[in-house]
Amino acid sequence: MADVIAAIATAPGRGGIGVVRVSGPNLAGLASALLGRLPQARFATHAEFIGEGGKAIDKGIALYFPAPASYTGDDVLELQGHGGRVVMEMLLRRCVALGARLAEPGEFTRRAFLNDKVDLAQAEGVADLIDAATEVAARCALRSLRGDFSAVIDVLIKQVIELRMLVEASLDFPEEDIDTTDEQASRERLGKVRTDLTRALTKGRQGSVLRSGLQVVLAGQPNVGKSSLLNSLAGEDLAIVTAVPGTTRDAVKQTIQIDGIPLNIMDTAGLRDTGDEVEAIGMSRAWQAIDRADALLLVVEAAQGITMREREIIARLQRRVPLVIVFNKIDLSGVAAQSIVPDDSAAETHVWLSAKTGEGMDLLRSALLSIVGWEAPGEDVFLARERHLVALSLAADHLGRAEAVLAQTELFAEELRLAQHALCTITGEYSADDLLGVIFSRFCIGK
Ligand code: GDP
Repeated sequence: MADVIAAIATAPGRGGIGVVRVSGPNLAGLASALLGRLPQARFATHAEFIGEGGKAIDKGIALYFPAPASYTGDDVLELQGHGGRVVMEMLLRRCVALGARLAEPGEFTRRAFLNDKVDLAQAEGVADLIDAATEVAARCALRSLRGDFSAVIDVLIKQVIELRMLVEASLDFPEEDIDTTDEQASRERLGKVRTDLTRALTKGRQGSVLRSGLQVVLAGQPNVGKSSLLNSLAGEDLAIVTAVPGTTRDAVKQTIQIDGIPLNIMDTAGLRDTGDEVEAIGMSRAWQAIDRADALLLVVEAAQGITMREREIIARLQRRVPLVIVFNKIDLSGVAAQSIVPDDSAAETHVWLSAKTGEGMDLLRSALLSIVGWEAPGEDVFLARERHLVALSLAADHLGRAEAVLAQTELFAEELRLAQHALCTITGEYSADDLLGVIFSRFCIGK
């Protein structure tokens, strides 16, 4: 049987209110010792939190949610006291003295999952909502938490199950070969699931961009306007632009957002060859960053165009990193703002703009978004995690193979079974304990 867990659920530091949360199979004893009585279920009860020897620790509100109508599915007691570090710790220590143990990160939500209050994708939605870096990401996470993502997965699972029933019926009666009408019906159903699955995968991939953002490296010679461009891109978000010193002294990472997509920009101090040893190390890191980036933003002056320096940089790219060449300062050269894709196959976009006047900046924003295939966020984008994408792709592979062996009933049935299994790992119907450990350990304590 589960034991009693307790944790401070509010963020560390000073606050008007701080919350200690306790959950376990039976909290009647703990509540009586701490509050003098068991509070009425789901009512705000004003009470003194009683410490050892009857000395009061704090005065606050106690909320009691008896099982199973609680967050975890077990009894839950929430103690809202004054949000100071010492008083919260005293309260937590008191709960431990009364038999609770300190909760591990995510343990409350893990219990909610184990008690079937939420499925795994919903539980992950909880962590994603807390960690959301932008409003769009928060809205997507809330949809996962409410079960919208799980509902899409459940529909896919149902479709696969229906198809399996159709096929396995014929396996049970091997003497009756699968006839052509059945084969046609299977093919049509399979086609439909595959289309729906592809759609879910596309929406999931978009969502994963929302989660991790785009990695963009900004390069160009001194004074071409890189900092100005960054400020202009950040726009009204400038106030919340965070400057995080990079790993090297000449690479600075900043995060801004475009349409709610986090854009992690690494600003390199000009990619020049140098005799200076420290600078050379910085340069080699900058090149590594470029090779891992989702896009390289190369800034030149419109009046100068692409010079030998930029050509050298382009020539040195290890792989075909999508490239956006920005021709800045059009206000000086009198060229019109425009965006062109000179050669489809080269994954290259040229944008003429002015970081100073802002003209053409919208073209740059759309160019960056189109690199990751981002469309205006619909209501059906999922804040997918890597493991969801892997499971969806795996299911898609099995369905693809199923199509190839459609006439061989046993093989067909097996591929369908594997596809269903892959989909079920998303909502946690089949999940190994170690997977749960990995997922919940990334939560904050008290959640
Ligand atoms: P960086 O060294 O590449 O980061 O360049 P800065 O952003 O510091 O800009 C260098 C100079 O160019 C500054 O004086 C900017 O005001 C100016 N500048 C940047 N962008 C523009 C632009 O679009 N038009 C004009 N006229 N000047 C610009």
